[in-house]
Amino acid sequence: MPARSLLSAALLSCALLAGSACATEVTREQDGMRVTYRDASDALDAAMRERILETFFHAYVAERRDFNPAAPTQAIITIDPAYDGIAYVSSDDWAKMTINPGWLVKHPADTDLVTHEAMHIVQGYPDYGNDKAPTWLVEGIADYARDKYGMNNAAGDWKLPTEVKDKQNYDTGYRVSGAFLKWVESQHAGLIKQLDGALRSGRYSNALWTRSTGRDLPALWKAYVAARGGSKPAA
Ligand SMILES: [Zn+2]
Repeated sequence: MPARSLLSAALLSCALLAGSACATEVTREQDGMRVTYRDASDALDAAMRERILETFFHAYVAERRDFNPAAPTQAIITIDPAYDGIAYVSSDDWAKMTINPGWLVKHPADTDLVTHEAMHIVQGYPDYGNDKAPTWLVEGIADYARDKYGMNNAAGDWKLPTEVKDKQNYDTGYRVSGAFLKWVESQHAGLIKQLDGALRSGRYSNALWTRSTGRDLPALWKAYVAARGGSKPAA
């Protein structure tokens, strides 16, 4: 179809809506999940919408199956140009994910940010940012999941670090903690699932690491740094 006809079709569908603004709302049911995608200002094109939905179903269904089969079966993804971060999740009855479209316009290959946020919906912990659910650990698990369940990480130039830099520690968070978690899991299979369960039930404390691995967090970090060939100066 010529571009002009496409444009007319888009304008027509906008005119048919009750409000004056263009708006996209798509609800998709698949794999026992119902996802509503809302882009009130049509900030992202249809191709990006499809990639976001495809990434969500791909990641969330597997993350939910592996970590928390009781996690929500409904979700809302809102595209919000007024949000100046990258993306976030607020969990309530319907899991709600908000994405800043400006980020994806600038970084179109970074669609696995959806995989990270989808893991937060699966996590659904009662706490965040305290001893019962330390931020570094919650975010580290979400990046561990992005690495494991992502669809497009390599093209998006996103990976867990394979080197340890000066001043990094187990609680640096995000990818640094995600890489540490991946290594500990390789030594103690099932640990991430155990941590996730404890975080969700409010039973988490740092003592869990010692009970499950025989070593506390500083000792595990030291072993991890040694396995990575020691720490390197920060770039
Ligand atoms: Zn996060």
